[in-house]
Amino acid sequence: MQLKFYDTATRELTPFSPLHEGEARMYTCGPTVYNFAHVGNFRAYVFEDILHRALAYAGYRVTQIMNLTDVDDKTIRGAKAAGIPLKEYTRPYIKAFFEDIATLGITPAAKYPAATDHIPEMIALISRLFEKGLAYKSDDGSVYFSVAKFAGYGHPAHIDIEGMQGGARVSQDEYDKVSVGDFALWKAHSDDDGDVVWDSPWGPGRPGWHIECSAMSMKYLGETFDIHTGGIDNLFPHHANETAQAEAATGKPFARLWMHCAHLRLNGEKMSKSLGNFYTLRDLLAKGWSGREIRYVLVNGHYRQTLNFTFDALAAARASLSRIDAFTARLAETAAGAAPAETAPEFATSALEAFSASIAEDLNMPNALAALFRLVRDGNAAIDAKSASAADCAAIVEVLRKMDTVLSLIFFGKKSGGNDIPEEVAALLDARAAARKAKAWAESDRIRDELKALGWEVKDTPQGQKVSKL
Ligand code: AMP
Ligand code: ZN
Repeated sequence: MQLKFYDTATRELTPFSPLHEGEARMYTCGPTVYNFAHVGNFRAYVFEDILHRALAYAGYRVTQIMNLTDVDDKTIRGAKAAGIPLKEYTRPYIKAFFEDIATLGITPAAKYPAATDHIPEMIALISRLFEKGLAYKSDDGSVYFSVAKFAGYGHPAHIDIEGMQGGARVSQDEYDKVSVGDFALWKAHSDDDGDVVWDSPWGPGRPGWHIECSAMSMKYLGETFDIHTGGIDNLFPHHANETAQAEAATGKPFARLWMHCAHLRLNGEKMSKSLGNFYTLRDLLAKGWSGREIRYVLVNGHYRQTLNFTFDALAAARASLSRIDAFTARLAETAAGAAPAETAPEFATSALEAFSASIAEDLNMPNALAALFRLVRDGNAAIDAKSASAADCAAIVEVLRKMDTVLSLIFFGKKSGGNDIPEEVAALLDARAAARKAKAWAESDRIRDELKALGWEVKDTPQGQKVSKL
């Protein structure tokens, strides 16, 4: 299966060909943990989850790294306003993030490195930039990247530095096109930072936002890796700066392919904290919508097209999912435990082919879902006409299971060796798996106790977590 993806850098549909055979290494800009993530953020994480699952579906061993931005302008501002240490401020939002991705059926990344645990790696990278003459210390003690000295600046964002003002500097983590200029690698300690401070060869301070992703992606994935992803708002300046820092230090290409999702909008504008037009995942759960329904809405749009968030879309998702549930219930009833036929009925195999082709064509999920619904329609007709045997129905279930390795919508929350387990328990198991990957042992134990309180016992085996009713 040859996957093709649209590369933001070349603006072309590109056949995916990884650096290491059979392996796909991807880096995903993760959450800034200063608040609960909103559904717009989750559009990005669900798109990245579909990418991760599509790569696995195509047979690649996937290593996904997602960072946690737990030190930047926003987290520091929040901790200061709350009057508590930075770590104490970010901890509950990190915990909420793991719970939320589990609620949405998002596959855990291999690692969730936190910026505050990688300060030495960032200092080492900045030192390399100094050695190459690309970093300089300014009068205020901060260290900047000299954009004019790096010929390749602008990749993958198509930024033309011609019209830039020489010597202009930006110290904020986030800025826009008009203020393109030298950006901060290391920010000298200021009173606003309080006790958020580390020693460095350039004096006490803290890293800029962009350097964290260059340092952590290269640490875990190598200096050159396959795919870098994010929401389109990350393209500039964040991804241009990440690339400049990495390529200037190593002299090698950084990410080989860039993929960005378009924005989720609410009432015609980008859903964002700063505009105040957002729903957190928890807001929607409180209104009675499920993680599965929210996931459906996010999956059912092409990732490169803006998606308007509406409650009508959630209602439509609910209706579509109940159609799927009615179909799987009918299949189970007709199959009645029979072994699957060696080949599924023609309408099912052709639906699977169309599904795979849609995935391969730059993750065309609307087409992939259309193939699923053709299968639902034809399967229902075959059961009505009594032309589908028990073995045929069992084989159709197998086809649905294959599709669901990418979708995680059909059998959502039912994954304990074929035994149905409640959605809540499945979500907790996913959260615990993510916590264990992040080596958050206390959180893992807390979730185990929570499961126990719900009447489920979890055991860790070499094959992963096994859950059974107490
Ligand atoms: P942040 O926590 O702001 O760094 O954002 C985390 C991720 O969410 C990044 O990949 C952003 O590009 C993405 N993001 C933020 N807002 C939206 C939105 N409205 N639609 C899609 N992605 C978004
Ligand atoms: Zn990043």
